[in-house]
Amino acid sequence: MTAKIIDGVAVAKKIRDDCRGRVQRIVAQSGTRPGLAVIIVGSDPASQIYVRNKIRACANVGIESLRFDYPADVNQDAVIDRITRLNDDPAVHGILVQLPLPPSFDMARILHSISADKDVDGFHLYNVGGLVVGGTVFPPCTPYGVLKLLEHEHIALEGRNVVVVGASNIVGKPMALMLMQHEATVSICHAKTRDLAQFTILADILVVAAGYPNLIQPEMVRTGAVVIDVGINRLGDGRLVGDVNFDGVAAKASYITPVPGGVGPMTVSMLLVNTITSCERWQQQTFVPIFSKFPARVTK
Ligand code: NAD
Repeated sequence: MTAKIIDGVAVAKKIRDDCRGRVQRIVAQSGTRPGLAVIIVGSDPASQIYVRNKIRACANVGIESLRFDYPADVNQDAVIDRITRLNDDPAVHGILVQLPLPPSFDMARILHSISADKDVDGFHLYNVGGLVVGGTVFPPCTPYGVLKLLEHEHIALEGRNVVVVGASNIVGKPMALMLMQHEATVSICHAKTRDLAQFTILADILVVAAGYPNLIQPEMVRTGAVVIDVGINRLGDGRLVGDVNFDGVAAKASYITPVPGGVGPMTVSMLLVNTITSCERWQQQTFVPIFSKFPARVTK
């Protein structure tokens, strides 16, 4: 068997074309243009590239973007003050804080100061809770992108055995919860899992987000499995690879995502989708029903 390579670039392009149409409709109907505020603290080179790509993607579909740069030694209260003002700014429909933050920052406090109504990264507790009980307003972008890739390929989830390797708050855990919402049978593995292969070999669908090159070898994958590689690793020679031994596993799987060109382009596209959805909600006045702001100054 040779796997079909899932073309994330092509799927992401379709989603962006759709985004452009939605933006045009919003502007025509209300005169409002969706707006995304991006906050970056420090000068981490990878974060600078990610932010630049997000801003470029916004421009590409007609979303207005605002960028706020802070030095790594900024007082975090200044960042929270900025977020509070953006929460109240009617021209801003999405707010994201680029991660990672400098170690001196209380990441939870920063993320929870973003209004749940503008939390387009989906990291606010309200939106995380929505993943558990259903009805999430803003699904986190990377797992949302994985679901869209599976949907695009008409890969059914109901009743399938799905193994998620990686249990971070940003990728692995929300991925597992979203797959459960689709009635898959989900196992979650992480760095402390003993004998990873005994789990991965059972997967109809294997989603890998560990950040560990060549973690998944062909003998760990069932013949005909769908393999989604979320990992992004920069090798010593400058090459970008995922977590899966691509050539070996592609010879055995039914579907596989490449790195680069698989999940990566989807993540930014889903950020655009969430920002536009947020703008549409503000237009229709369909806000988060319980509370719109988590208290910014929670005591630790
Ligand atoms: P993280 O470091 O926060 O979490 C990694 C998870 O993998 C942890 O739960 C850890 O226990 C687990 N893990 C680590 N080594 C393992 C091993 N040997 N066996 C089993 N589990 C192991 O990372 P993250 O933010 O979740 O990102 C994971 C990977 O996905 C990274 O390579 C990152 O660059 C990539 N990523 C890609 C996108 C994208 O858009 N494609 C978005 C976010 C993250």
